[in-house]
Amino acid sequence: MLKNFYVSTPIYYVNDKPHIGHGYTSIAADFFARFNRLAGREAFFLTGTDEHGTKVANAAEAKGMDPRTFCDGVVTHFVEAWKSLGVDYNYFVRTTDARHEKAIQKLLTVLNEAKTPDGRDAIYPGVYEGLYCTGCEKFLTEGEIVDGNCSIHKTPAQHLTERNYFFRLEPYLPIIKEKVENNELVILPDERRREVLGLLRMGLPDFSISRESVTWGIKLPFDPSQVAYVWVDALPNYISAIGYGDDPEMFEKWWANAEVVHLMAKDILKFHCLYWPAMLMAAGLKCPDKIFIHGYATVNGEKMGKSAGNQIDPHRMTEIYGVDATRYLLLNQYPFGADGDIKETEFVARYNSDLANDLGNLVSRVAKMINQYCHGRIPEPRANVVGKKEMMSMAEDLPDEVFDHVRNFRITDAISSTWNMIRATNRFLENAAPWKLAKEGDMEAVGGVLYTAAELVRVVTILLYPIMPEKMREVRKIFGLDDSTLTLDSARTWFDLPHGNMVTFKTSVFPRLDADKVPSLVAPPREPETETVDEIGLVTYDHFAKMRLRVAEVISAEKVKGADKLLRLQIDLGSEKRQIVAGIAQHYAPEIIVGKKIVVVANLEPATIRGIESRGMLLAAQKDGQLTLVTVDKDIPAGASVS
Ligand SMILES: [Zn+2]
Repeated sequence: MLKNFYVSTPIYYVNDKPHIGHGYTSIAADFFARFNRLAGREAFFLTGTDEHGTKVANAAEAKGMDPRTFCDGVVTHFVEAWKSLGVDYNYFVRTTDARHEKAIQKLLTVLNEAKTPDGRDAIYPGVYEGLYCTGCEKFLTEGEIVDGNCSIHKTPAQHLTERNYFFRLEPYLPIIKEKVENNELVILPDERRREVLGLLRMGLPDFSISRESVTWGIKLPFDPSQVAYVWVDALPNYISAIGYGDDPEMFEKWWANAEVVHLMAKDILKFHCLYWPAMLMAAGLKCPDKIFIHGYATVNGEKMGKSAGNQIDPHRMTEIYGVDATRYLLLNQYPFGADGDIKETEFVARYNSDLANDLGNLVSRVAKMINQYCHGRIPEPRANVVGKKEMMSMAEDLPDEVFDHVRNFRITDAISSTWNMIRATNRFLENAAPWKLAKEGDMEAVGGVLYTAAELVRVVTILLYPIMPEKMREVRKIFGLDDSTLTLDSARTWFDLPHGNMVTFKTSVFPRLDADKVPSLVAPPREPETETVDEIGLVTYDHFAKMRLRVAEVISAEKVKGADKLLRLQIDLGSEKRQIVAGIAQHYAPEIIVGKKIVVVANLEPATIRGIESRGMLLAAQKDGQLTLVTVDKDIPAGASVS
């Protein structure tokens, strides 16, 4: 009997909207939870958001909101993103929830009373001194400071001293080392395990658990002038969500009596593999069983980021490919654990070859032939079917082979093992050629082949259900199967497809995609602010980059009748004179603009605005509805190029 299975994603920080990087971890966790349920285990899947800290408080203030309301808004984006990706978590924890706060206060009280293995106080007051970056929301280490600036934010690091409480880490490190070495605390992949052992050899200083300077957080129960700092607030979400503090029975079930698995990216390895186990030990609780650390994803070969403008919005991807294909394409891009590149260029080809061809066609062919040759009902199984024995033995081993991959977090291996069977089933059909048998009139043989093929499809629907739940349900419906046999046991059982089931096939499960018609997923970088001059026509950044910018002198200007935003300008481009129409009438009186040297997009297609021809567009800066023309020094001659 396998233990309960408890899987978590990290809680995502609310300074960002969810992108495909977050999506990747969440889909993986969803996959593991679903697969373990197929295997008959009870599974609990936790995700959530990290909402405290100066950065959040500042972001909220900038928007004139209280922090919780600000967080509510961001959280909605996460909840919707997970819905659109079919991510079916059991609980969404928020660090600003009263329940979480209560659990943290309980944990802090316990830790404050705890003694280390060598009999000292686990928590002690001290003075923290260091160089602090508000952007990073932390004191910086030597390597993170370049010329006195934060290496990430390029802003000056501030020297700060404050009274703090510390967690005494050092006495726990030898115990953690032992647990990692004897695999009581399994850290995967092996590369990350070695990294953790390396950190343990180097030794680590005690860490600060509170801040005096931060207000947006949970007050320490033993010193309300201090607020719990990041790691003692965020990490215990894994226990607050399952009843630590308010539901001992639930907590027992999902912590003590479960296989506890944390998934995360490598940037938070140290905190999860060292700080967290130490805190748990001090609190008298068991450590997580497995910590799986995956790498970083790049998109189309580039680091993903807000400023790079290459963040893939999960909604956009599911709109184009569908939910299940999105899950498949993402999880099958590269081995789980490694650094990898999400190659958008490969999505269509992969979708067409794997989903439309291999799997979609198999389902269509089998269903159509059963309709055509077997009166639309699953035929009876037969003994003497060419190639059936080999297929049966393959199908017999497959469920446990795949589950073994899943238990060891080898998602791509689990998929490719299943795909081997899909391809083998296609070959089996080619060889057995039921259409030829039908021509020869051997309808019993036809039925035997088609039963075998349908049976193999049934096994596939179970093994692929965790990655493509909706589509696999759709396929099962075609063959008259419901969710009651959606179990690994059923996948292990041959002849679990009842003959006589109605086959109802309407349309291809994965219709082919036309590569030329699939739009790009990567949202273009934010359009220039000049877009508010929208009556002249919007430009995208790509177009903008191709534009020829020239200095022009305004010779004359007049209001356009019946359009209170528009001015008709005559401009001098040095080599020629032109007329343009610009949406600046509410910001510039005609008499003020005449004589100004402005910047114009010279190679813009002519447009007719309110019946007036406009050849070019001027540039303007916009802030809070106020528009300012981009001008140049009077000494620059008209016609000079701008680059
Ligand atoms: Zn910084």
